[in-house]
Amino acid sequence: MSKFNEFFYKVWLPLNVVTILLLFICDINWYLVFLGWFLLGPIGSGVGSHRLFSHRSFQTYDWIEKVLAYLSTLSAYAPILFWVTQHQYHHKYTDTADDPTSPKEKGFLYSFFTWRLLKENLDKVHIMNYCAKRVLKDKTLMWFTNHFAKIIWVHVIVLSIVDLSLLLSLYLLPVLIESLRMNALNYINHLENVPFNYRNHDIDDNSYNNFIVGWLSFGFGWHNNHHANPGKVILTERWWEIDIEGYIAKLISKKT
Ligand SMILES: [Zn+2]
Ligand SMILES: [Zn+2]
Repeated sequence: MSKFNEFFYKVWLPLNVVTILLLFICDINWYLVFLGWFLLGPIGSGVGSHRLFSHRSFQTYDWIEKVLAYLSTLSAYAPILFWVTQHQYHHKYTDTADDPTSPKEKGFLYSFFTWRLLKENLDKVHIMNYCAKRVLKDKTLMWFTNHFAKIIWVHVIVLSIVDLSLLLSLYLLPVLIESLRMNALNYINHLENVPFNYRNHDIDDNSYNNFIVGWLSFGFGWHNNHHANPGKVILTERWWEIDIEGYIAKLISKKT
């Protein structure tokens, strides 16, 4: 029996094979790569699945939630329900044996790479806090969860019909970069003695802010600030802690 979950076979493996093949035959437009990554990563995954669906750190309009759900699904990192429940484990059991992404407990390969591709974590959706229950009750979010692989492959096919170079630059490379961003965050921001790591809050876990990851990740890397106050929409506490994801969330917030 394979240890990998269905998304390893349906999405991760074939998507990476296509990416590698296209790297040999297509030109790369780095402006499109950045645009694609910014939409799928910081906006879809970061603002959508993390700050809104996992923490409900702000409220927004229904149509914006749908757009964020679509972009997060296209980021191909994880189906929304899986994203949210696994993130609850990460916050509830940070850096203990039950934390799926702790480098302290699980080591580099598991923390950086394999955790989200394994069956054991996909099956583990027991933490049903308010945010996870809200995903379960939300027909739109569950539609995106249940059609994760199909939505990604429709997108790939449509872009491939238009232009293979467009598929590579606007979609496949952004997906790859986003998975590196999230994996690097899980690993570097929970590891001691990493250059440029520091803490603003002496809390009971191994979370760190990191200058380089903080800036390059567009805010997600102010991670010790986030673990100290998971519901806070903007993570900036010191002047250099620029949090683009938080500013975008604030911008699209519904005024109540
Ligand atoms: Zn963390
Ligand atoms: Zn979080």
